[in-house]
Formats: sequence, C-alpha cells, structure tokens
Amino acid sequence: MFNINNIIRPNVKAMKAYSSARDEFQEINDDYIFLDANENPFPSPYNRYPDPQQRALKQVLSDKHGVGKKQIILGNGSDEVLDLLFRAFCNPEIDNVIGISPSYGMYQVLANLNAIEYRKSLLQPEEFSLNVNDILSKVDEQTKLIFLCSPNNPTGQYLDDNDIEKLLNLFHGLVVVDEAYIDFGNKPSWNKKLSSYPNLVVLQTLSKAYGMAGLRLGILFGNEEVISVLNKIKPPYNINQYTQDFAQKCLIDKTYSESLINLLSKERELLSKSLIHVNFVEKVFPSDSNFILIKVDNANKRYQQLVEKGIIIRNRTNDDLCEDCLRITVGTEEENRKLLKVFKGLS
Ligand SMILES: *Cc1c(COP(=O)(O)O)cnc(C)c1O
Repeated sequence: MFNINNIIRPNVKAMKAYSSARDEFQEINDDYIFLDANENPFPSPYNRYPDPQQRALKQVLSDKHGVGKKQIILGNGSDEVLDLLFRAFCNPEIDNVIGISPSYGMYQVLANLNAIEYRKSLLQPEEFSLNVNDILSKVDEQTKLIFLCSPNNPTGQYLDDNDIEKLLNLFHGLVVVDEAYIDFGNKPSWNKKLSSYPNLVVLQTLSKAYGMAGLRLGILFGNEEVISVLNKIKPPYNINQYTQDFAQKCLIDKTYSESLINLLSKERELLSKSLIHVNFVEKVFPSDSNFILIKVDNANKRYQQLVEKGIIIRNRTNDDLCEDCLRITVGTEEENRKLLKVFKGLS
C-alpha cells in the first residue's frame, strides 16, 4: 500500500517550512495597516506580496474540477511542480524514477538536475501504448515516481486507462499523470479518481488550452498528504499576483477557453486530413492534443526546408520510435493554411 512515510525524503520530513509574513497573518482587511513584510507602502498594483497559498485562485479551480482546495498545489509552470516532486520524494544519488519514451523531455532533465537515476520504458511501436510489464520490471525499492503523460507528447494520444490503473494498483510510489493536453480530447481527467488512488497525482497547465504559457501556471492535484509535503517546500511566493488574478478571470470566463479549444480541435482535424495528401508525408498519427505527429520521408530535410520558408515546427527524429517524425503545433486557420501551402510546394 501507498504510505507517504515510505517515500518522503528524511530531510524534508524533518525540516520546518519557511513562514512568510503573509502566512502568519492571512486576514485581508482594508482597515489594517500592514507593516509586517517590508513591502513598499505606497500604492501600486503590485506593491504587496502575492497570496502564498493562492486561496482565491484555488477556490475557482476547486469549483471547476470538483477537487478540494487542499488537494491542489500551483507552480510557476508545470515544470516547477515537477521539480518539487523530485525534491520532496527522491534522495539524490540513491533513488530512481521511471518515465516512458518517447515523452516530454523535462522529466529526464529534472531527474538529471536532482541526481536521480531516470529509467526509460519504451512505448510499444506504432500505437505508442504503455508496456506495463516492462515498467513494473524496472521498479525496485528505490523507485519513487513513475511519469506518464496522457495525451502523450510528442505522440499526441491518450495512454490506455486500464494500463494506468494497473500501475496505480501495483506500484507503491507516486504515479504522475501529466495531462497538459487533456482539454483537447474528450476523456475526463484522472483527477476524478483521486479518492480511489492515494498514490495518484495529476498535472495540468494553463499553458496550452488556456493560452497562458507566458504567465506560467501549472496545477498539481493529489491527495492532501502529498500536497502538504509539496506546500512545505515550495518557494513561498511562487505564483505572482498578476498570474493569480488573470488566471481566475480566464477560468471563470468559460466561453472564451471553450471556443479556443473547439476551434483548435476543428483545425487539428482539418490539418490532419490535409496532411495525409502531402506527397512526402507517410503517416499522420491520430491526435487528442493540439499538435500532430507525422512521419515523413526525411525529417531533417523537411524540417530545414520549412525553416527556410519561415515556418518552425519540431523535428522529433532523434526521439525513440520517432524516426523521421515531425511534430506540428496546430496554429490559426491562416497559419495552418500557409503551412499546407508551403508543404505542398516542397520537392
Ligand atoms: C507543455 C507541457 C507542459 C507544460 O509545462 P508548463 O511548465 O506548465 O508550461 C507540461 N507537460 C507536458 C507534457 C507538456 O507538453
């Protein structure tokens, strides 16, 4: 069974969290005089430190997802919360984590940064599904985290729910399901299953569907024990006040995000269908995300040709199982039309 005491780092368990001025006195009252945080007293939109617990924003997220506020931690992008997972649960030079390949590159970068061994499990060729037995064979006493990404980047497709469930049942560390692209598909989030699986953490971001990549807001859902450990070690003021305010507005205005998502999903289908007809495109992989992976005759050549025409896509030919594959982000209608026009003109 999952027991947080088996995975928390001893130094993290023993340490005391930093107590910020805003943590010690939280009540917001315009009549108070705040002389506790060495801020500049003269009014400007941002002279005060931001709420370290982001309570108003978490309330909006809690309502939207039906998840308790204590089951949410926010990061300066997903990358910050991913790093917190390593720092909370993985002992440098001792522990290991498992990730799938091909997948998002940051898991391995963060493992390297934190001196944690990164064990790679190849997806099954062509359909890019999990090899559950292979993952389980890589687990040992020192394995703390398994990183799954669904829909996966760069392959664009969901991982199988039953496979994820098997890992949740059989692995006693944390299973991280990165749902950066969840909004573009039509499956429910794994955050609905938090009460069934105490070792499940679910990562989402406002960088993709919500169009806020520049503001940096990553969201991690997990059981209260896990979240409280991460809260203990996070930088106190990691989400700036502008991001907290703006994100609330974006999340509350559902019609805006929903229309963006619908538009991009439609454009993705159109683009997928048209890409099949480009003569050097050998395969267009199905996508539940806002990008499309294609296999071409010669990825290096096609990538370079596009750069010369001023169109930048991602060359994934050096990723496992992605030989001669390119990853194309779905753009606006006009951008996609231009891409296709350039593609069709290449020889
Ligand atoms: C884009 C992406 C993210 C988002 O990272 P942020 O730091 O929140 O911008 C996370 N995971 C995957 C798999 C991604 O592709």
